Amino acid sequence: MLGYYFLGEQPLQFSDFSLDKRLLDSLKHLGITTPTPIQEQALPIALTGKDLMASSKTGSGKTLAFLLPAMQRIISTKALSKRDPRVLILLPTRELAQQVYGQLRLLVANTQYKAVSILGGENFNDQAKALSREPHFIVATPGRIADHLQQRHLHLNGLELLILDEADRMLDLGFAPQLAAINAAADHKRRQTLMFSATLEHDEINEIAATLLKSPNHIAIGAAY
Ligand code: ADP
Ligand code: MG
Repeated sequence: MLGYYFLGEQPLQFSDFSLDKRLLDSLKHLGITTPTPIQEQALPIALTGKDLMASSKTGSGKTLAFLLPAMQRIISTKALSKRDPRVLILLPTRELAQQVYGQLRLLVANTQYKAVSILGGENFNDQAKALSREPHFIVATPGRIADHLQQRHLHLNGLELLILDEADRMLDLGFAPQLAAINAAADHKRRQTLMFSATLEHDEINEIAATLLKSPNHIAIGAAY
């Protein structure tokens, strides 16, 4: 393991983090070896189970900054519940959720874990069936997942990791009530929450962060101080 003192001289590699070999193999297969700044900073925090609030610009690699620690946590810890999903990843739009789901599928393909996407605009009953197959990972838009919660197609008592990506856009789209419902359904001490946003300087972001996150670490890449 390289120390941070070597940063700048010798860039950290994904193999310097304690990641399962299957994850490292998947990255290698994708031709990805060197973490981006947000990945380099988010991984050590997220891997220790701490809550995190992070921002960095579009295209900086935020998806792997949360998918890798999510996969690692699921691989290396025992499930809190056999039935409930272990990781829920929320995004503001179908398109963004589909992109994240695509990357997640590449990572789970190498493992025994199951992932589903639950998006607005798709068949509700098919989704209820997919949820009854007890996936470990769910990638979703907040409105649709809140509907399934209300219909009791889904329970989040055993949720270990809640991830909010593009949290500022979720709030702009009016998803605060759904986020509150999801948070309440997964309200227990052992839950970890990671929140990513283009900006952290948004009053509503800080309000919702105060309800969702426990003593989070903050990372802002490229922010003007
Ligand atoms: P963001 O969510 O910050 O907008 P993404 O996670 O969508 O960014 O990543 C943007 C692109 O960069 C994707 O095509 C992704 O596969 C690629 N990428 C992510 N991390 C790395 C890396 N460490 N090295 C090379 N390419 C990467
Ligand atoms: Mg993104």
